[in-house]
Amino acid sequence: MKYVLVTGGVVSGLGKGVTASSIGLVLKACGLRVTSIKIDPYLNMDAGTMSPFEHGEVFVLDDGGEVDLDLGNYERFLDLMLTRENNITTGKIYQSVLEKERRGDYLGKTVQVVPHITDAIKNHIESVATIPVDGQEGPADVCVIELGGTVGDIESMPFIEALRQLSFSVGPDNFCLIHVSLVPVLGVVGEQKTKPTQHSVRELRALGLTPHLLACRSAQPILDNTKEKLSQFCHVPAGNILNVHDVPNIWHVPLLLRNQNAHLSILKQLNLLRIAAAPDLRDWTNLAATHDNLTNSALLHACIACSLKPSIDWIAASDLEDESSKLTPEAHAAAWETLRKASCVLVPGGFGDRGVKGMILAAKYARENKVPYFGICLGMQISVIEFARSVLGWEKANSTEFDDATPNPVVIFMPEGSKTHMGSTMRLGSRKTLFQTADCITSRMYHKSAYVDERHRHRYEVNPESIGAFEEAGLKFVGKDETGNRMEILELPSHPFYVGVQFHPEFKSRPRRPSPVFLGFILAATGQLNLYLEKQQNGS
Ligand code: GLN
Repeated sequence: MKYVLVTGGVVSGLGKGVTASSIGLVLKACGLRVTSIKIDPYLNMDAGTMSPFEHGEVFVLDDGGEVDLDLGNYERFLDLMLTRENNITTGKIYQSVLEKERRGDYLGKTVQVVPHITDAIKNHIESVATIPVDGQEGPADVCVIELGGTVGDIESMPFIEALRQLSFSVGPDNFCLIHVSLVPVLGVVGEQKTKPTQHSVRELRALGLTPHLLACRSAQPILDNTKEKLSQFCHVPAGNILNVHDVPNIWHVPLLLRNQNAHLSILKQLNLLRIAAAPDLRDWTNLAATHDNLTNSALLHACIACSLKPSIDWIAASDLEDESSKLTPEAHAAAWETLRKASCVLVPGGFGDRGVKGMILAAKYARENKVPYFGICLGMQISVIEFARSVLGWEKANSTEFDDATPNPVVIFMPEGSKTHMGSTMRLGSRKTLFQTADCITSRMYHKSAYVDERHRHRYEVNPESIGAFEEAGLKFVGKDETGNRMEILELPSHPFYVGVQFHPEFKSRPRRPSPVFLGFILAATGQLNLYLEKQQNGS
């Protein structure tokens, strides 16, 4: 196994994940099989228990792993299906060492960070690297490891030490270290400052790791004399110093690296030049060029397929509510104006009752005004509550997540969940949804397949006891799980596009393979859905 380690210096938030994914992509474009590992040096077992405000949105994998969102970049850039093991956290490592200690595996020994924790890290990396994640058999050629955080952080020290040992044991031909650093610009003349990078490389070297390449993040490309200075003081050949300056969208980054022959430097270091081909990035060139200035999301993937540039207006759901105490009349009016201007409405996932009243108002507005509505997870549950209240007249209908005492619990806690343990106790990961009919929008968008596998992350579900009343009133549950008791997709056939899904189709959406539900939503929003479905029916 050849390892490419990506570390970060100076500050966090440099875009290490995108840089590491892009490096992986360029190597893949050279014909190599690539896998990836993300190391997060925090004590949480996984990202599932962290706030999206602090840490970014959780990414859910097929196997139910709740992981860092960088794994989403890896899956999408490299077209992989990763496992929960591909995200290593301090919590997981300590847990495994402590379990062994309790079992008596180290009987008689003092259990220490070095060697026990560092050995566990090395073993974990070496075994995870061999898991096939690209649909082929056997291990990949190259494993890209991204070490989260900034070099010098106390948290990452055991990982740095383990990686130093790993680099030594696998040997120089099998290890390439790329350090991502910041080159700030100061003063009116705009001098590019190399000192922060010098310091972080010195820090790295003091810990026994020597970077083979530097990836310099900067607003503008770094100048030749800046490169020379960095080369001299950081002990890295000038040809291995890469410019990763700001670009209009992240899909430019692989091209930027390829244009500087980053792959040649890496392949040379890994002694792979003989077997690698010239990188073919034609698809990505098109993607990057056509979609400059857009943001990356499942919505964007669907828009790309329709050659549309999305304009996404975010509405804080609570701003739609009448009685919100914090609300100014202006914010309330602005939120409603935004909603009324929209060609479609998406209510995404969420937890807790914040904004729920506003989401219900948005769902009601979309249903009554025949505006395309797409509810994801909580967004689907919201549409069920709204329908129960407005159409069935069950005024107090609610989810027991928000009101335990509701007389009409239309969304209920799933029996297998845990109310005492939050970590990894939701219904998580890939589950089968069986279509109940081929005569509905979502089935047709999924090419009338009998079932779909999509990823889940929820604790509550539509109450199966209410289904009869809903269906009679025209709300159809067109996708269910294998038992038939769990509602996965709802549609309102009397509406041009009113779709709720209990799963999260965004996780499996890819830039060149958009999620079918997202695509249907965008087509409906732009009045093209019927034509698309007719063409599909005629096989064109
Ligand atoms: N809070 C809801 C549940 O647990 C929805 C979760 C979500 O939107 N991911 O079922």
